[in-house]
Amino acid sequence: MKTKDSIITLPQPALRQRSRKVGLITAEVKNIIKDMQAATLDWEDNRKHEVGVALAAVQIDVLLRIVVIRNNFDDKNDRTFLVFINPEITKYEGKIESSYEGCLSILDIYGKVPRHTKVRIKALDIDGKEIRVRAEGFLARIFQHEIDHTNGIVFIDHIQDKQDAFFRLTDTGDLESLDYKAKIESNDQLWATP
Ligand SMILES: [Zn+2]
Repeated sequence: MKTKDSIITLPQPALRQRSRKVGLITAEVKNIIKDMQAATLDWEDNRKHEVGVALAAVQIDVLLRIVVIRNNFDDKNDRTFLVFINPEITKYEGKIESSYEGCLSILDIYGKVPRHTKVRIKALDIDGKEIRVRAEGFLARIFQHEIDHTNGIVFIDHIQDKQDAFFRLTDTGDLESLDYKAKIESNDQLWATP
C-alpha cells in the first residue's frame, strides 16, 4: 500500500507532463486506484487542518488519466472515493469565481484561483462504463483542478502573476497572505522552466 511519501511534489517534472489515456481497465489500473486512495488518506492522517479531497494519478508518479475524489469531502469519516477514468470537461458553464485551493503536490501554499462555477464531465467508471456528471460549486472546482493535473497543469499556473493570490496555512489552520516577491515570484521550485 502506498503512503503519503508516494505523493510527488513540485519541482518534480512529472507534475508538468500530460498523462496518457487509460486503455483497458486492468488489475494493474485497479491497483493504481487503490494506491491513490491509500496515499490520499495517509496524507490526510498526517495533516492537522486539511482534508485530502482528491488526487490525480500523476501525483503518485503514474502518468495515466485517472482521478479519485472523496465521496463526501465535508465528512472526514467517510473514507470512500469516486473514481473517474479518462475524465474530460465537455462544457464550462456558470460564471468565473475565485476561491481557495490547495494541492497535495504543493505543500503549504494555497491560492485564490479563478474557476468556472459549473462544469459538465464525461469519464469512465471503474467498470469502464461511461458516466456523465454535472458539477457545481466546490465539486466543479475539484474537477477543474484534477483534470488540469492530467494535462500537466498545477493550480499556481493560473495565478502566476497575481501578487495577492498566494497564501500559506498557519499552525492554527488559518490562511495568511504570502509575500509574493520573497516567497513566490522568485521561487524556482514552483515554476516550470520554459
Ligand atoms: Zn492538486
